[in-house]
Amino acid sequence: MPTYVYLCGQCGEEFTLILSIKEYETAKVTCPKCKSGETKQQLTHFMTKTSRKS
Ligand SMILES: [Zn+2]
Repeated sequence: MPTYVYLCGQCGEEFTLILSIKEYETAKVTCPKCKSGETKQQLTHFMTKTSRKS
């Protein structure tokens, strides 16, 4: 299942969630630390990222 990284807009806590696509579409993500709903999804860098310069 895909992993999603979220950043809390209230306390700055960064946390990771593992959600199915269905959960991802419907889930309301709240910060585990301050319970704020002001969370932003961060872009995760996948392994396939090519950082090579040629
Ligand atoms: Zn928070």
